[in-house]
Amino acid sequence: MSSGLLYLDNAATSWPKPPEVAEAMCAFLATQAGNPGRGGHRMAREAAGVVERARSKLAALIHAPCAKRVVLTHGCTDSVNLSVHGVLRGAMRGGCGTKPHAVMTSIEHNAVLRTLSCYAKDGLIDVTLVECDGRGTVDPQEFAAAVNERTIMACLSHASNALGTIQDIGGAVKAVRSKNPDTLVMVDAAQTVGHLPIDVQALDVDLLAIAGHKGLLGPTGTGALYVSERAYPDDCAKARVFCERRGGTGAVAPGLEMPTTLPDALEAGTSNAVGFAGLLAAMNAKTESHHEHEMDLTRRLLDGLGSIRGITMYGLGGIEGRMPVVLFNMDGVAARDLAAGLDAEEDIAVRGGVHCAPLVHETIGTAPLGAVRASPGPTTTVDEIGRFLRVVDRYAFGMTAAG
Ligand code: PMP
Repeated sequence: MSSGLLYLDNAATSWPKPPEVAEAMCAFLATQAGNPGRGGHRMAREAAGVVERARSKLAALIHAPCAKRVVLTHGCTDSVNLSVHGVLRGAMRGGCGTKPHAVMTSIEHNAVLRTLSCYAKDGLIDVTLVECDGRGTVDPQEFAAAVNERTIMACLSHASNALGTIQDIGGAVKAVRSKNPDTLVMVDAAQTVGHLPIDVQALDVDLLAIAGHKGLLGPTGTGALYVSERAYPDDCAKARVFCERRGGTGAVAPGLEMPTTLPDALEAGTSNAVGFAGLLAAMNAKTESHHEHEMDLTRRLLDGLGSIRGITMYGLGGIEGRMPVVLFNMDGVAARDLAAGLDAEEDIAVRGGVHCAPLVHETIGTAPLGAVRASPGPTTTVDEIGRFLRVVDRYAFGMTAAG
C-alpha cells in the first residue's frame, strides 16, 4: 500500500533538488537567458556571469588552483568522454611510437569502460583491467602494477556507483606516479563530489570528472572536468588533452583553430547556462551536514536489510569507507522485477539491474541480472527508511512463503 513517493535513487540523480534550483532556473530563463560569452549585451553578460560563478564555485569546492581549470560539461559521462577521447587522441596525434596503453578497473562505470573499450576493439590501444576485491576495493598497488612505460592514462572511480565502496585515490595516484610519472590519472568522481571533501591538488589527480546532478543537487545536464597542469600545461603547446569537439566559444581565436587556453580550448558550443544557474543555486543552498545524515540512513538500511531473511547484501560490512549506497538481492526474485514491483505497488523508487557497471557484478557474483540499489538523499527521513524496510520485509516473507 503506497503512502506517497519514496525516492531512494539518489545515486542515479538526486531528488528532490533544493527549491532554490528551480527558482534560479526560472529566474534565469525569465531575465538573464542570453548566450553566455556570445555578445556584449546585458543578457549575454549576465548569462556569462552566472556560468562563471558556477565555475568558480566548483573550482573552490574541489580546491582547483584556478577556475579556468574547471571545464563545464553536460554531465559526468561527457566529462569522462572528454578526458578519454582527449588524452588518447592527444597521444595519437603526437605520433607516439608505440601503441598506447590504458588502465581501468572492474568498478568503473560504462562511461569509462565503453569509451576505452572502443579504442581497444579497434586495436588502437591496449587496455589492462584491474579487478576489485569482493567488497569493491581496488588495491592501489595492484592498480599501479598494471601501469607500464606505454601507459598514457589510468582510470579509477572515486567510489563504486554499484557498491558505494570508496577508493584510496591518494594512494593510487602516488603508486602510479612512482611507476610512470607521465601517466595521467583520471578519477571518476560522479558519486563523491558534493558528498566528500575533495582536494585535487592534494590528491594530485590529473583529470577529475564531476556530475552536477548527483551529490551537488543540481539539475541533470550539468557536469565538469577538472584538468591539471600536467594534463594541460599553461604552455598549451604541450597540452595532452585534445578536444575533438570544435566550434564557437565566444573567445577571440584567429582563423579556423580553437582557442588554446583553458577553459575555452575544451568547451565548444553554447553551454547549458540555465542548468549552471540551477547548479550554482544548489551549491549555494547546500549545507555541510547532508553526508552525515545520509550515512546514518545508510547504517539503518544495512542493519535493517541485514536482519531480513532471504536478503543478500553486497560490499563493505558497514558504513566505514562507503557512500550512501546499499546493494542487495532478495532470494527468488530478479533485481529488476523487485524494483519494478516496488515502483508499481509501493511508489518506491530504487534501481534494479547492473547500474551501468557490468564488470563489478562479475566479481560479486550478481551478473548478469545485477542487484537492487537503494540510495538515500539529504531529505530522506528515518521514517521513510522504516517504511522501506517494512515493505522489503513483507515482500521477502511473501517470497519465503511462496518458496
Ligand atoms: N560514473 C559514475 C561512477 C556514475 O555513477 C555515473 C552516473 N550513474 C556516471 C559516471 C555518469 O554520469 P552522468 O549521469 O552525469 O553522465
